[in-house]
Amino acid sequence: MLAVRLPAAGRRLELADVPIPEPTGGEVLVRVAGCGVCRTDLHIVHGSQARVTPPLTLGHEIAGWVSAVGPSTAGGPPLGEPVLVFGGWGCGSCVQCVAGEEQRCPDGASPGFQRDGGWAEYVLVPSARHLVSLGSLDPISSAPLADAGVTPFRAVRRAAPWLQPGARVLVIGFGALGQFAIQYLSRFPGLSVAVRDLDARKVELGRSFGAVTELNGAADVVFDFVGVEETLAEAARLVAPGGLISIVGEGGGVLPVSFEQPAVEVAVTTTAWGSLTDLREVVDLAPSLRWRVEPMPLRDAQAALERLESGDVMGRIVLVPRRHEGANDAVGSTGAVDSARRRKCRSGEH
Ligand SMILES: [Zn+2]
Ligand SMILES: [Zn+2]
Repeated sequence: MLAVRLPAAGRRLELADVPIPEPTGGEVLVRVAGCGVCRTDLHIVHGSQARVTPPLTLGHEIAGWVSAVGPSTAGGPPLGEPVLVFGGWGCGSCVQCVAGEEQRCPDGASPGFQRDGGWAEYVLVPSARHLVSLGSLDPISSAPLADAGVTPFRAVRRAAPWLQPGARVLVIGFGALGQFAIQYLSRFPGLSVAVRDLDARKVELGRSFGAVTELNGAADVVFDFVGVEETLAEAARLVAPGGLISIVGEGGGVLPVSFEQPAVEVAVTTTAWGSLTDLREVVDLAPSLRWRVEPMPLRDAQAALERLESGDVMGRIVLVPRRHEGANDAVGSTGAVDSARRRKCRSGEH
């Protein structure tokens, strides 16, 4: 199968022909419908993301169809089912995992970071518990829900105590995550939300989601979806005493915090992905959300990254393995193959 591999941190991507993985134990093989291209991928390719262990296949925003299951898989979605892949692959047994916060697992190994990800025709998922059924949602356009959709959902949820009627909210960076965030914020009555982005088109897009031009005073909550030195400094400058700075973007910036800096009683938090519960809620909400998807062929991953870097993407690029492009019958036409694979795996031939 085709896979887009990162040979080493800081190197260019390589197109490789690799064997289709065979699921063993409780593993599930997912045929990839689409996998998003995230700014974090850009950080990984540039070598500025420490949590990555190449060589590996990138891609952590994955949707597809259950293609085969290992012999001891229990309770997962049926073969052919369209699924979203939860990317916080934890050990399943530590305090964080048992608490339902697998994405925080100290021994976690996620697709596109420490394990082979979804920029490939297939991805091997360690357990059926990492799959969320998509129901009637289209798998290609749903791929961004796995990160761009769930991460701001969690960020907004964690900010709920600050989101009282009349609260002023600043969203810095209006890419795919910011566009989801403003829709989650709209569920809190009486907020005033402003958007900052270097791209005037994105600020304009923010207005179409109900953003105001200026906040009338300091911000009770600042969401920084960029996370570089400049945006964190802006967050610190604009946050109100007692407010919240929520750092979501992994831009590598550092925010100095002391007794009166950024202001007294300001809370600072990061948001890392979302929990499985968060992801299920996002999938339930999806029919009421809008987001932009731009499909690109999987083999154009390098070009996709360069477009993202240039700022020339208004929503999310989703890499699509070629044989799915424009094919609505992807599930039906390969169902027999999937069933055959299932029998083989169930009978332990591999
Ligand atoms: Zn991401
Ligand atoms: Zn764990």
